[in-house]
Amino acid sequence: MKVAIIGAGIAGLSLAWFLQQNSSTLDISIFDEKERVGGQLYTLEKNGQRYECGPRSLRTKGAGKIILDLIEELGITEEVIEAREESRTRYLVHKGALEPVPSSLYALCSSSLGRMCLKACIKELFIPRGRQDDESVASFFERRFGRSMVSRCIDPLTYGIYGADPHSLSMQSCFGSIYEKEKKFGSVVLGALLSPRQKQSKKQSNVMISFKKGVGFLPQVLASKLCATFHLGTKIDAIVEEASHVLLSSGGKQCAFDALFVAISPQALSTLLPLDQLKAIPQTSLVTVSTGWHDVHALPDAFGFLCPSSEDDKLLGVVFDSRVFPQHNQLFKTRISLMFGGERAPAISCFRDEDLLSLSEDAAIKYLGIKAPFDDAVVFRARDAVARYPVGHAANVDYIEKRLGARITLLGAGFYGVSVGDAIASAKRVATDFLRLQKSDMLI
Ligand SMILES: Cc1cc2nc3c(=O)[nH]c(=O)nc-3n(C[C@H](O)[C@H](O)[C@H](O)COP(=O)(O)OP(=O)(O)OC[C@H]3O[C@@H](n4cnc5c(N)ncnc54)[C@H](O)[C@@H]3O)c2cc1C
Repeated sequence: MKVAIIGAGIAGLSLAWFLQQNSSTLDISIFDEKERVGGQLYTLEKNGQRYECGPRSLRTKGAGKIILDLIEELGITEEVIEAREESRTRYLVHKGALEPVPSSLYALCSSSLGRMCLKACIKELFIPRGRQDDESVASFFERRFGRSMVSRCIDPLTYGIYGADPHSLSMQSCFGSIYEKEKKFGSVVLGALLSPRQKQSKKQSNVMISFKKGVGFLPQVLASKLCATFHLGTKIDAIVEEASHVLLSSGGKQCAFDALFVAISPQALSTLLPLDQLKAIPQTSLVTVSTGWHDVHALPDAFGFLCPSSEDDKLLGVVFDSRVFPQHNQLFKTRISLMFGGERAPAISCFRDEDLLSLSEDAAIKYLGIKAPFDDAVVFRARDAVARYPVGHAANVDYIEKRLGARITLLGAGFYGVSVGDAIASAKRVATDFLRLQKSDMLI
């Protein structure tokens, strides 16, 4: 059986891996318009220093546990490095200064942010259950925890993950487990208190990981272990589904497959399939400036900080790379990554490098007090990189799935959760369903 996967990002590669692990009868072809695999998961080596273009680390809690399982299957556990324990600490900007996110009962009672959260949580216990099927993230948190919580905590969080305003995101699709707690227990806080805590082994503890060679190592290894045919530098420009096969076209050439898996973004897919519902899933653009200094500059011993919209109109947050993974301090002793753009500054990817570097130097002075200019910096433009799931996203995806023919299946971060763990989980689900169907011979 001939199957095709469009997209050699982590979703497409993991799918090929799960299919290969469980079936020896599949002839798998993987297409990507880029000349390399990994999609957004890519580590650049420049002048003896490693820089991450997309994720700086992989979270192995919750949906992320699947990353550890995959690492074990691939036999690359020895290559994993863990983030320093101290990088659990995170900061939020408030009135131009960094304020730690409370992480203990003492911090909840002693800081102004902690006391605000504590009060909001106590009040939340008495707020009646909402009746909406779905609503915006801002509306949910405002209803249950109050407006200050949205502007000080939720706004920087959604910008940090999606590059998007909480008013434009679906609660059900972006924070599903919190949404479910209200549905089940009538209160998020009560739900958190009553939900059984799963015992976590060290392997499953809330660690952020990378690899000795950076996160881009994961897709590299995956690709090297696949018995698939790779068509890199091949942009698919048309998909036609016929009764007995799917036709893929690229640059005038056509190829027929028995089944097609699509692991690309909704906007990219909307140019291949005439479905307006795909256009209803917008994507945000981000710019990351990764910088380094040869000297040691004092950084808080933490993961980094997020910036609410009320504090900065372009900067979303900063990761203290040299604190999180000092193992990657090769050329530089101090490294930070600054993230700009999203819905807060949609035109950011058109800014010139000089302007982005100048914004970064201003931010380093303003928030970290580092006045020395960077010794080097790399600018990464991630155009239309992160899907912004709008209210009603789950129902929209349901509709799209039904409109696709039986031979075409979607997966990946454009539709089913934007984290790397979510992308791998969607690949596993799709592989399991497909192999079950194949076994029961229902597909053909
Ligand atoms: C700056 C940044 C920071 C991030 N940080 C984190 C983080 O800390 N933690 C986390 O979990 N996630 C993070 N993410 C998100 C995470 O990287 C992505 O969700 C995940 O990598 C998406 O994987 P994917 O395979 O679904 O899609 P992609 O990686 O986008 O892969 C899709 C592939 O499809 C190819 N393609 C598109 N159209 C076509 C076509 N017509 N023909 C052929 N090929 C095509 C593309 O070239 C691409 O390689 C971050 C993302 C960015 C941009």
